[in-house]
Amino acid sequence: MSNILEVTNLTKHFGGLTAVSSLDLHIKTGEILALIGPNGAGKSTVFNLVAGVFAPSEGVIKFAGQTIHGQKPWDLARLGLARTFQIVKPFGSKTVLYNVMVGAFLRTNSTIKAREIAEEVLVTLQLDHTKDMLAANLTIADRKRLEIAKALATDPKLLLLDEVMAGLRPTEVDDMIGIIRGLRDRGVTVFVIEHIMRAVMALSDRVVVIQFGQKIAEGSPEAVTKDENVIKAYLGG
Ligand code: ADP
Ligand code: MG
Repeated sequence: MSNILEVTNLTKHFGGLTAVSSLDLHIKTGEILALIGPNGAGKSTVFNLVAGVFAPSEGVIKFAGQTIHGQKPWDLARLGLARTFQIVKPFGSKTVLYNVMVGAFLRTNSTIKAREIAEEVLVTLQLDHTKDMLAANLTIADRKRLEIAKALATDPKLLLLDEVMAGLRPTEVDDMIGIIRGLRDRGVTVFVIEHIMRAVMALSDRVVVIQFGQKIAEGSPEAVTKDENVIKAYLGG
């Protein structure tokens, strides 16, 4: 199976701080890869680099065989790379449907077609009953779904999900696991940052663990949670 994403020697400095340091990682087409690590490890920065929010200080990022260094998030979304943000910022004063149509307009200039795409995506995310609500009035769980819906409306090949389970109740976490699995079954490759270990175990085919911007372990969810370096990292050692 080919790799949809290949990251080589990825490094990002913020002034004197090295947030990501010589990181290598790849994602196979069709898999769910989880990126985990303690707070401040550099996870969101990796997403920001891959999604074109920041330019790397060093390193190469290849998406579907193409070097994407220096391309902006909007261009990358056109190529099929979409992300959600850890801090959820919908257009609160707009409807749920409008928010999702913004993503769909990447694929079409037609309002009718964008609406059709958005309505279909809302059904997939089990949000169709909220489509006429203002985004600001959604529950936390539904806002997380809306973030995924906005990204999904761009028809991504690779979807980056940054802590979409944070703040959810256990049953809502279960629902979200089901939704993300469903996306993968529809052919979307998924790259998740996730703190809730139960979700990591249930979702991921493979896990990459980082600490201080460096990879400290990689493997099956079972293997990495038994890894001594990983246990130490989470205990603050
Ligand atoms: P994680 O998502 O694993 O919690 P982050 O990638 O958000 O970690 O942050 C990694 C490190 O980089 C932290 O020390 C953070 O303070 C720093 N950092 C992240 N974004 C910026 C930025 N835009 N400017 C300066 N420092 C940043
Ligand atoms: Mg983060």
